[in-house]
Amino acid sequence: MEQKEDKLKEVISHAKEYGYIFPSSEIYDGLAATYDYGQLGAELKNNIKSYWWKAMVQMHENIVGIDSSIFMHPKTWEASGHVDAFNDPLIDNKDSKKRYRADVLIEEHIEKINQKIEKEVEKGFKRFGESFDEVQFRATNPNVLRNAEKMQEIENRMRETLGKNDLEGVHQLISDLEIVCPISGSKNWTEVRQFNLMFSTELGSVAGDASTIYLRPETAQGIFVNFLNVQKSGRMKIPFGIAQIGKAFRNEIVARQFIFRMREFEQMEMQFFVRPGEEMKWYEYWKEARIKWHKALDLGEKNYRFHDHIKLAHYANAAADIEFNFPMGFKELEGIHSRTDYDLKQHEKFSGKKLQYFDPELNENYVPYVVETSVGLDRMFLSVLSASLKNEKLEDGSERVVLKLPAPLAPYKIAIMPLTKKDGLPEKAREIFDALKYDFLCQYDEKDSPGKRYRRQDAIGTPFCVMVDHQTMEDNTVTMRDRDTMLQERIAISDLNSKIASKVDMKFLLNK
Ligand code: ATP
Repeated sequence: MEQKEDKLKEVISHAKEYGYIFPSSEIYDGLAATYDYGQLGAELKNNIKSYWWKAMVQMHENIVGIDSSIFMHPKTWEASGHVDAFNDPLIDNKDSKKRYRADVLIEEHIEKINQKIEKEVEKGFKRFGESFDEVQFRATNPNVLRNAEKMQEIENRMRETLGKNDLEGVHQLISDLEIVCPISGSKNWTEVRQFNLMFSTELGSVAGDASTIYLRPETAQGIFVNFLNVQKSGRMKIPFGIAQIGKAFRNEIVARQFIFRMREFEQMEMQFFVRPGEEMKWYEYWKEARIKWHKALDLGEKNYRFHDHIKLAHYANAAADIEFNFPMGFKELEGIHSRTDYDLKQHEKFSGKKLQYFDPELNENYVPYVVETSVGLDRMFLSVLSASLKNEKLEDGSERVVLKLPAPLAPYKIAIMPLTKKDGLPEKAREIFDALKYDFLCQYDEKDSPGKRYRRQDAIGTPFCVMVDHQTMEDNTVTMRDRDTMLQERIAISDLNSKIASKVDMKFLLNK
């Protein structure tokens, strides 16, 4: 556990030191759970967006992308169910004045019991060694069984009370479990209240004329309300998809774990419109396509897993998460949901407009079913950054910190360095920089010793370094150093472009 926290801390400080992510408004001591992407962070983020957009839009002739506004007609959120049902149960501790999600407090309590079971299993393993039969032990050990039963009981009570919106019941459960506030250590809790996660503001400058509008909590609704506009103007035939990348806002009660859970974040969503009855086929198709997209980054096959939802949202008939092994453990990275015709039908009801498709092959009108893929851009960023950050022990006993980013996502593709600041080497290096800058984001670096410069480029994840030396002046060759192998090879300046492209071109990821 401690190790995991250390890893997250390491990622946070590395991100700050090298200009990937800064705490927002830091000179005013920051704003909770709000972060700014720095000069390298903005590049990495753009490259992730581009990888997604190319995979979804450019590689599919039946998917197009839009960019809808953050503000939408307030009725949108009544239709989508967010005004009535986008709530979290919250509870305050009267002594520490800290606010918690009631369901999270209970889940953490359940996890503590689970830890007891794991400890018991570990003890068994130590006692019996090689001959230890874990399955048998879990099925028969009285301590394990007692705790498993306890967990199940609590889970049932939580599900039942939350399901019925019985907030007094949730409060009673917290009291019965004697859950204390991690800060004050007291059991002095307020009642449980429902808290809507949408941010609201007022539209219009004249008081009284103003009406409440919301910052969108998801980008999907901007796609649904434009379904017919896109279908008609783009002459789209079902099945087809609409993709979008954009900001979303949720007033999360407990926002934490760096950029994993923020109040302002970015989503990359695609809604795929299909014939009713064909949604499960497409749901399976997109589950496979999306995990393949993630795994193509080579950040470790074992770092991804599916988590199928047992309890479905009111609009879904199937749902799964792609979870990633973040520094704090496996957590949701992307959701794939079969949303049925719920959203379009709701918008038909609330707007009084028909949102139907005439299927020329079937010769009939229908409201299409929808399969959604929704990935958090910031979570994607955290997955890439945390899995790429490595501390390596080198053969000579020294250590290096290296950011082994997938080369097509790296901010700088190449650093161009003159060995010394004289003898015309800087001029030659700048010439190379000017020739390559049309194709790649390059960095020119002449400060400090070559060793220090290489380490700096390793730390920011630049896949290649090119060193211009005295031999360059004679034969137009340079040494090119590979970030991952640290091997250097002598190559002609005229071959640089194709050599770099062969590693950093996004098409190698898209092709996998
Ligand atoms: P969680 O259960 O973690 O709150 P969710 O199931 O509410 O997430 P969705 O509504 O399915 O999330 O949103 C789709 C994606 O948007 C998520 O998979 C996640 O990557 C991202 N996301 C959701 N909430 C946040 C947030 N507060 N900060 C950053 N990313 C988020």
